[in-house]
This record gives sequence, C-alpha cells and structure tokens, in this order.
Amino acid sequence: MTSMNQKKDEAYVWHGMKPYNPESTLIAKEAKGVWVTDEEGNRFLDAMSGLWCVNVGYGREELAEAAYEQMKQLAYFPLTHSHGPAIELAEKLNELLGGDYVIFYSNSGSEANEAAFKMARQYHQQKGETNRYKIISRYRSYHGNTMGALAATGQAQRKYKYEPMTTGFLHVAPPDTYRSPVVPTKTGREREEVKAIEQMMVWELAETVAAVIMEPIITGGGILLPPEDYLKSVHEVCQEKGALLIVDEVICGFGRTGEPFGFMNYGVKPDIITMAKGITSAYLPLSVTAVKKEVYEAFKGSDEYDYFRHVNTFGGNPAACALALKNLEIMEKEGLYTRAKAVGAKMLDELIKQLLPHPNVGDVRGKGLLIGIELVNDKETKDPLNVQLVNNVIASCKEKGVIIGKNGATVAGFNNVLTIAPPLIINEEEIKLLIETIVESVNVNL
Ligand code: PMP
Repeated sequence: MTSMNQKKDEAYVWHGMKPYNPESTLIAKEAKGVWVTDEEGNRFLDAMSGLWCVNVGYGREELAEAAYEQMKQLAYFPLTHSHGPAIELAEKLNELLGGDYVIFYSNSGSEANEAAFKMARQYHQQKGETNRYKIISRYRSYHGNTMGALAATGQAQRKYKYEPMTTGFLHVAPPDTYRSPVVPTKTGREREEVKAIEQMMVWELAETVAAVIMEPIITGGGILLPPEDYLKSVHEVCQEKGALLIVDEVICGFGRTGEPFGFMNYGVKPDIITMAKGITSAYLPLSVTAVKKEVYEAFKGSDEYDYFRHVNTFGGNPAACALALKNLEIMEKEGLYTRAKAVGAKMLDELIKQLLPHPNVGDVRGKGLLIGIELVNDKETKDPLNVQLVNNVIASCKEKGVIIGKNGATVAGFNNVLTIAPPLIINEEEIKLLIETIVESVNVNL
C-alpha cells in the first residue's frame, strides 16, 4: 500500500536515477549506527552507508553538537576572508596527508573535481605552458554530475541525452584484473593499462595534456582494484610528460579502503586530491581540493589573472568544517581506519569462501570496507549476469532488511556488481547478518 507521504513524494519530489516507484521508495525517518528506520517502522541495515558516505555511522550526537555549537558562535563567513574551523581543518587534513598541501573548500565531490580541473589548467598557464588543457580519465569511472566532472566520467549511460560534453576530456580503459588478468611478466610501466595512458599522451601530444584524474579504486564503475604498482606507474608517466595527477578520493577517502586515503595503499603522493562524502560522514555538505604546495606556488604572481578565480558561497562553511573536525576525531579515537582494514579483510574472506563456489559468482574483490561481488551468466565466458537477476538479488536483500548496491556500466551490460560499503563501525553481529543475507539472496535467486 502506498502511504500518504509516498503519494506526496511522488507528486512533489524529483529523485532522478531510476523510474519512480512509490511502492519501493524507502522514506527514511531516523537512523542510528548502521540501521535506518522508515516511516512504517521497518529497519534496514544500510550496507551502502547512504551513498558510500556515512563513514562513522548514523545518529552521532557529538557531530550534531559540533555543528550546533559552531552555528551559535559563527554560522557563516565567506572564505574570501577566513575563519577558525576552516583553518583548523586544513591543518588537520595536512597532517593526515603527510604535509605539503593547501586546502580549497567546496560543497560536493563534483565541485571539488571541477576546481581541480580549473586548477590544473591554470597551473600550466601560470607556468607558461599555455597549450595544456586536456584531462585524461578512465572508462567506467564516475567523477560527478556537473558538466566538467561528467565529461571526465567514463560511463556513457550517464552522458547520453546531455551531450555534447565539455571538450578536452579523454578516456582510456582501466585495469580490470578479473576480465584481463594480470600478466605476471608485465609490471609497472609495461602494463597495458599504463602504456595506454602513455600512448594517449604521445598521440595527443603530451604538451596539450594538463592532468590525469583517477580514483585509487574505481568504485561506481564496479569496484575495480588496480594492480599494486599501477597508480605509481601512472604517476611516473605523468611526471615524465609534465601532467598533474589528480586522485579522486570522494569515496575511497576517510577510511573506506582501510587507510585514511585510498592512494596510501599504492605508495604515491598525488599533485591534487579531491575529497567529499566521508569528510563529514555526510552529516553536512563539504568537499575539498587539496593541492601540493609547489602547484599552489604557481598562483602567486602579481598579475590580476594570476590568482585562482574561483569562489563558491557555501564552500568551507564553519559548521561543516567544525563537524568534519569532530568526525575525523571520532575516526581516530575509535581507530576506524585500521578497523575497516581488519574487518573488511575478514568479511572479504568469508564472502569469497561462501559465494565464489556459486556458478553465477565470477569474482569477489575489495579493500577495506569496499567490496564488490561480480555476477556472471557463465564463469567461463564471464558474460555479465542479466540485470533483472541482479536486481532480484538486491530486492531480496531489501526484503530481508539489508540495503546493498549495484554498480558497473549499463552500456555494455556490466551493471552486474553487487556493492557493499557499510559504515566503518559495523559490528561482528551485523557483519554476520549482512553476509548471511547476501549469501541467502544469491542462493535463492540464482
Ligand atoms: N567522485 C566520485 C568518485 C564519486 O563517487 C562521486 C559521487 N558518488 C563524485 C565524485 C561526485 O560527488 P557529489 O555527488 O558529492 O557531487
């Protein structure tokens, strides 16, 4: 039965992303820990942390208090000036990043990436390399919904009907170690996926390339973990060809992969790092573009066009910054980075043990509390499982009170990866329930 609020929701709220179905729309009322309760009192274990973002879990009063106290003292002041919480958070982030970065604030992951693209282009202009404007990214990646971030996105289904895109964005294939298993004799710069980037720079003329952007692990495109030395090799290519490396930490940041930032798994220090979501555990909007000091230095000329001509009204809101500081304090105090690593590894092992023998489970992979289960019609051909069957598994989990995600790339039928990214505080009992529910739903439906 459709409730009154579901009817009003259908009448007044435009949700996007899928055809609207009032019957299946969960109208959330309250949430605590990993549990979300809807208006009818049904409880769901949110194994996607909303949109991969409620890292410290729901209902943390200390986060609400941090925002409340800050709002009473100073609710707003623009960062054309400055304020204490923005300064303190910038210092804290620097500590997490190992120093050497300046922090630019915005409100969403898309905006953080837009700022990064503008910085990269202007940086080269500042250095006198006025032809460098192209940005290279990967197919299957998602970098945001605004026109530049969408142009960088490598998922055609999200661009269809909104084209033409902003020009100057190029795409290469990402590593997919399940479909193109790592060739042990080819390492580092010899890897096909690294050579593809180098080749693109050659064919496009390296002098026209401003930056390469990538997530450490592709998330929305289906949890694609790169070979261990991939990111480092890409960085080497960038350095050799004079392009900046932008790492998108919007999902991978703040403990999701078992490290403060995803790139820390792969031994690089990117030129620009974008962050959002987990920085406030999504309690308030806030995003960051962190920039290496040597890049920032190029913007210090005396000409009126030397500075970064980019401003946003809400970026670095004092309450959001104060809340982010409290959020980072919680993560440290509760050891959530190391916890995500240990708990995630155990969960991955268990899922591999219980699910991989199933004829429709092609691969189970992940890092920290970021796990993907790739469903296939046939293990030999690796033909992606029909999306209706994938949806049935997800619906069956929801019926049993567990929310999981589905990601991939619909254009080529690759919308076949079940995704799990629970709050980092998920406990043993909840993990057990989560695993049991997924295993049962796969076994019943496939
Ligand atoms: N980058 C990545 C990797 C993302 O997953 C997302 C959002 N899912 C974005 C950027 C855009 O973030 P937002 O939705 O906050 O604009």
